[in-house]
Amino acid sequence: MRPHVDTPANGTSPGVGRRSLLKAAGATAIASAVAAAGSGAAHASEDAPWDVIVIGAGYAGGTVARELTARGLSTLVLEARDRIGGRVWTSTFAGERVELGGGWFGPGQQLVERELERYSIGTTLDVAPTVAVMPDGNGYRSAPPEETFGRLGTLFDEFYAGSAEYFSRPLEPLHRKDLLQSVDRLSLADRIGQLDLSPVDHQWVAGSTAPFAGSNDWGGLTGLAQWYQLAGGTYDGFHSTMSLRPDGGMTSVLSAMFAESTAVVRLNSRVTSVSRAGAWTQVRLSGGQAYRSRVVVVATPVNTWNTIAFTPGLPKVHTDAVREGVGVPHATKVWLHVRGSSEAVYAQSDETGPIQLLLPQQELPGGRLYVGFTGPSLDVSDRAAVQAAVRRFIPKATLVGHRAMEWSKDTYARGGWGLRRPGQLLRQLPAIQEPHGQLVFAGSDIASGWYGAFVEGAIESGLRAADQAVTLAH
Ligand SMILES: Cc1cc2nc3c(=O)[nH]c(=O)nc-3n(C[C@H](O)[C@H](O)[C@H](O)COP(=O)(O)OP(=O)(O)OC[C@H]3O[C@@H](n4cnc5c(N)ncnc54)[C@H](O)[C@@H]3O)c2cc1C
Repeated sequence: MRPHVDTPANGTSPGVGRRSLLKAAGATAIASAVAAAGSGAAHASEDAPWDVIVIGAGYAGGTVARELTARGLSTLVLEARDRIGGRVWTSTFAGERVELGGGWFGPGQQLVERELERYSIGTTLDVAPTVAVMPDGNGYRSAPPEETFGRLGTLFDEFYAGSAEYFSRPLEPLHRKDLLQSVDRLSLADRIGQLDLSPVDHQWVAGSTAPFAGSNDWGGLTGLAQWYQLAGGTYDGFHSTMSLRPDGGMTSVLSAMFAESTAVVRLNSRVTSVSRAGAWTQVRLSGGQAYRSRVVVVATPVNTWNTIAFTPGLPKVHTDAVREGVGVPHATKVWLHVRGSSEAVYAQSDETGPIQLLLPQQELPGGRLYVGFTGPSLDVSDRAAVQAAVRRFIPKATLVGHRAMEWSKDTYARGGWGLRRPGQLLRQLPAIQEPHGQLVFAGSDIASGWYGAFVEGAIESGLRAADQAVTLAH
């Protein structure tokens, strides 16, 4: 069977028909969204000036669009892909609904909880593992999950020691700026190097942090430590951030947000330039079409900001962020249909493993689905290599099929979830959240709280950006 690997330029899945893709993307909502905004903000035609143009229809852009139209501002959303959702992409594999990007919520993510309640969307608890497979020197060993997670908890306490103080208010990451001076400059690898770990404990810790960073040299300690404290400062809390799935898929909540908004959404609309001229800002698409507005909200991933020509140019903090990168450079999520074990296997490798993290998903007749996060060493288009990688954890496994999404090769993401690099927290916040003239910035990559790897942060930043845009538009 030919492996299914998504490295799309425009987000179109070769394996999913256009009809089902549009359905998954909430196209019905979009089609009905061409309407006048409330409070007399009726919009004559798309060529007439808009109050606000939002670039990007991910969770951040969707939040902005809903909030602005609720406040009576005419709003146009321009999205490069043929679907909404961005780094959230609900699709199908092995006849099942799967998430190729963001997949889970965690308890305590209050903005997401509010959205679920608003649209009466329930959640399903993820599959609990029945066995945990962990590195053990040159091989792997299996143990009951409670025993494994207990040991990981002890190691995490050591790794994150001090974070309860330097992130005593984790939703306000700069609250103890004084304490951050000595830790924000550390990479994950630096922090691991400070600990006196046995070789196996080193494999466990480095293998636990690497899936979030691609490589421990790249990610910053405070990036992960903030999430750890947001999750309550325990391993169990951190683990539970990937425990809940919204019924209908991750795109369903965003579809509901767009359905409520009266913004006009144009898909297949890649923005190439944003230029200020007098009272208006002109936004031009790759096809040459141009729109005007008083305010523009840039709700695209930080790693893509340099694909748009801004006049005047972006401030240094923004250009530095793009150059350094915020979206992790290796972020490949692979769905695996596996036969050969009745167990629900949780597995981790050391930092260099081809699959760094394996999570059990639903059981299928005669098999099970798994989600894997791969390391740079695995070529996901090589079926034999993928099967061999699974067999490291489950020796009798047979790979029935797999589908991988390589986010770093995606034109409109240019990376995966966001993880701050060493020093970025102190260097970037709060300046990167500030408007620049009539330009406003949104996106999980620049959120304060659950930034980067969480839809919660995209909503947080969207709410902030909407407030800023309202002020600038009046
Ligand atoms: C593999 C993976 C797993 C993840 N797992 C989780 C998880 O389990 N839970 C969780 O909460 N979060 C998870 N995340 C993170 C989450 O998906 C993101 O934080 C969130 O979706 C980001 O939303 P956003 O609106 O800020 O950006 P995006 O979703 O990236 O939206 C930006 C939009 O801008 C568009 N765009 C880009 N350039 C242009 C242009 N020039 N013109 C027009 N449009 C443009 C893009 O196409 C995109 O639609 C994961 C992410 C990845 C990649």
